[in-house]
Amino acid sequence: MEQRIIESVLKDLGIKNKNYGANSGSSTGWIKTGGKELVSYSPISGQPIASIVQATRSNYDAIMTRAKTGFEKFRMMPAPERGQIVRDIATVLREKKEALGALITLETGKIKSEGQGEVQEMIDIADFSVGLSRQLHGLTMHSERPFHRMYEQWHPLGIVGIITAFNFPAAVWSWNALIAAVCGDVILFKPSSKTPLTAIAIQNCIAPVVDKYDIDGVFNLIIGERAEVGDPLLNDSRIPLISATGSTAMGKKVATQVAARLGRSLLELGGNNAIIITKDCNLEMALRATLFGAVGTAGQRCTSTRRIIIHTAIKEQFLTLLIKAYEQIKIGDPLKDDTLMGPLIDSQAQANMMQAIETAVKQGAKLVYGGTRLKIPGLEQGSYVTPAIVEAANHYPIVQEETFAPILYIIEYKELEDAVRMHNDVPQGLSSSIFTDSIKDQELFLSHKGSDCGIANVNIGTSGAEIGGAFGGEKETGGGRESGSDAWKNYMRRQTNTINWGENLPLAQGIVFNIKGVQK
Ligand code: NAD
Repeated sequence: MEQRIIESVLKDLGIKNKNYGANSGSSTGWIKTGGKELVSYSPISGQPIASIVQATRSNYDAIMTRAKTGFEKFRMMPAPERGQIVRDIATVLREKKEALGALITLETGKIKSEGQGEVQEMIDIADFSVGLSRQLHGLTMHSERPFHRMYEQWHPLGIVGIITAFNFPAAVWSWNALIAAVCGDVILFKPSSKTPLTAIAIQNCIAPVVDKYDIDGVFNLIIGERAEVGDPLLNDSRIPLISATGSTAMGKKVATQVAARLGRSLLELGGNNAIIITKDCNLEMALRATLFGAVGTAGQRCTSTRRIIIHTAIKEQFLTLLIKAYEQIKIGDPLKDDTLMGPLIDSQAQANMMQAIETAVKQGAKLVYGGTRLKIPGLEQGSYVTPAIVEAANHYPIVQEETFAPILYIIEYKELEDAVRMHNDVPQGLSSSIFTDSIKDQELFLSHKGSDCGIANVNIGTSGAEIGGAFGGEKETGGGRESGSDAWKNYMRRQTNTINWGENLPLAQGIVFNIKGVQK
């Protein structure tokens, strides 16, 4: 990893050796934090990139005060004007795409084109949000009472807390922050402590836009430890919505804490995604989708393909092709153009992967490829692995879990109904897919007795969703929906309005409540 590249990327994005961990959006919005130092290490080399002075509880309170003031002004700005702000943010993101994408690669270890792709996703969401800013519409319904009009409208919610996972440190901010912003909310962003620099870079990128529109307090950032920042955020009744992306274990804690104060949570949690491969599918397409799904982002996407449920008749043929393809995958420095798989996020993730493979074998599985630690010359401190292929049965306890690493379980089936049953027989319900040329099989998979996931694809892998659809999953994935479609409704409060423009006061349901001498 070249020091020169790192230095130019950091300079371009305004990252210093030591940074503050709280900001209210504008170029003067940094708060002199006084908490513990947090060092961001690159998973590529294991070397430190830069550090952050984390926020304390009192820094949290200061940011909340600015957020509250910011909201009072921002909610009265017409939504299409808020859309203009997001449009300017999209312009900055286009200008900074290269640098921000490179920083994402540096901090997460995902390959260069995926780092760039993540910024493109931010741009796409921004463009989508600009259009949305003119479409935040409610319904009008006919009143049962004469001379009455009834309709519903959507108001901004207030301060939205955004907790993000390390693996999409920028895109998940945009899914929430940009849509919430056109809705008139202000944002309090708490990133993963594994990827704090990307969060700081986002703040620096948008600061000129915040300055131009004088909206300090709308896009707030806070980086800090659980006791100082995480818990206050979850317990704070000034925050009506917490949108949390991360593991199911985290989601259970967030859901419980936020529910205890009757706040709302929007949860985007772990997946255990499978592709069903039928015997009459286009096998080459299925193979390519499996490769990107299982090995892309080193198996560290919520939508990564973790299980292949394949018809017995083609299993051996597919496995041979898959192993051949795995042997070709270039693993190493994700900043290099020809690398297809970078490192895992840290040594803990590497240890978790090794442990999961050992457990799988103990439970009866067979490791057929990879699953080893890898030393890349010059990058010995990085957490590199060879992706693993494991023949297993769906009911093994380890197969039921999401291991956030490139482990692909191969499971056989004979009847499609069994394949679908096994497919659904896991606690998570995020993304799913079937490869088949049979219309009947496609329709079964998409029917009420088919996939139980939030995302169900035909002849497309599990990984890499477009932003136009609502994104999220069922069961232990948390039930949240973000991004496209009508996911914006999560960030607003619905109000039903009834207006009486007549001379009488009829009650609903025909109730009579007459008091002598008061009504005509
Ligand atoms: P994680 O659960 O360890 O952390 C996620 C975030 O939650 C971090 O910001 C962390 O600081 C915070 N957090 C953890 N415990 C908390 C608590 N008690 N209170 C407040 N905040 C808390 O997850 P990770 O390792 O960063 O990311 C990987 C996980 O995220 C995987 O399970 C993956 O499937 C999931 N993920 C889901 C989606 C989705 O859209 N469904 C997207 C990306 C990642």
